[in-house]
Amino acid sequence: MGLFTKDIKTFDDLFVHTLRDVYHAEHQILKALPKMIDKTTDGGLRDALSAHLVETEGHVRRLEQVFQMLGVEAKAVTCPAIDGIIKEANEIAADVADKQVLDAAIVAAAQAVEHYEITRYGSLATWAKELGREDCASVLVATLDEEKAADTKLTQIAKGRVNAEAA
Ligand code: FE
Ligand code: ZN
Ligand code: FE
Repeated sequence: MGLFTKDIKTFDDLFVHTLRDVYHAEHQILKALPKMIDKTTDGGLRDALSAHLVETEGHVRRLEQVFQMLGVEAKAVTCPAIDGIIKEANEIAADVADKQVLDAAIVAAAQAVEHYEITRYGSLATWAKELGREDCASVLVATLDEEKAADTKLTQIAKGRVNAEAA
């Protein structure tokens, strides 16, 4: 569902569209993370991704909570951006032969996912406040904070160990 279809007329429409976009993204991430966890050989990286998989289930539930608060149907619209990020992650994982280099590639791919989510939730939380929906904003900020923390954790894993082992 592109932004250039004319079914997005108002700022409210844009807000709901983007919630549905990230709802699609969270479901795709729920499917992608277990594959990334399977491929990693670093215990700390596996633990971090596993912990974030559990958080991601909560992100889906929070979005459903926001849809309910707004009185709109919880449904997904295809997000080509996250589909591309996940496709690239799968392709690079298939192409890397060395296990330790693969761990470095998985961290980078996971951080691309987190950065995508940080930009979406950042916009959504700001828009919710602008629309006078502080209630929705606080739910979205709770997820935003977990995405930022996951990204920070991945940076620590990369800089602390994984990149050095790959080098
Ligand atoms: Fe998420
Ligand atoms: Zn979209
Ligand atoms: Fe995330």
